[in-house]
Amino acid sequence: MTVTAQAIPMLSDNYAWLLVDSVSGKTGIVDPAEAAPAVAALEALGKRLDYIFLTHHHDDHIGGVAELVAAYRPQVVGNGADAQRLPKLDISVHEGSLVEFGSARLRVIETPGHTLGHISYYIADGGILLPGDTLFSLGCGRLFEGTPAQMFNAIAKYGDLPDDTLVCAGHEYTASNAKFALSVEPGNAALQARAAEVQALRAAGKPTLPVKLGQERATNPFLRAPDEESFAKLRAAKDNF
Ligand code: ZN
Ligand code: FE
Repeated sequence: MTVTAQAIPMLSDNYAWLLVDSVSGKTGIVDPAEAAPAVAALEALGKRLDYIFLTHHHDDHIGGVAELVAAYRPQVVGNGADAQRLPKLDISVHEGSLVEFGSARLRVIETPGHTLGHISYYIADGGILLPGDTLFSLGCGRLFEGTPAQMFNAIAKYGDLPDDTLVCAGHEYTASNAKFALSVEPGNAALQARAAEVQALRAAGKPTLPVKLGQERATNPFLRAPDEESFAKLRAAKDNF
């Protein structure tokens, strides 16, 4: 695995992800809500920033971009179709784009639902999925712009990724998501075990991410919904939970 991903906590419950390609030494940050924690993480590694990868336009995912651009002049990557709502892009991408990142490639997956221009990134060489606010551990993003059908189909696009893929999501929502998930599937033993693990991690002040996609497939009700209709019901129930 040449690419690694490290969670950088930002704001109250956001994670930006610091990507490092061990072959070229190139660095990237995904969804920097703030600049200072990103700068600190880069300086701890003695590195500058080569790329910023954006999943969607919300402030808690782009707030640190201007300052990081001023400091490092990285290449800013985002969805060309949503460019008017994003910081100035150097590399505009769309479904299936392969973005060069040192010795590796990031594959772009269009995942509308949370916002219509939301995209995810997958790095085969590292087994890393960056779903932004589309998929969380034990949950999924709120539908601010898209329909339940769009979100169901967006999440279904992760279906061909391996079970050992590391899910590097945009928020630490796992503990509260666990409560809802347990209300949906109280008898799911894998979910009960995950909920206990999450509680222990949070009590120790540790992130619950990344989590393996295979584990989410066994525990996340939104990944387990069999069709659009049950997905829509689940999303509505979570909104009112
Ligand atoms: Zn968002
Ligand atoms: Fe967010």
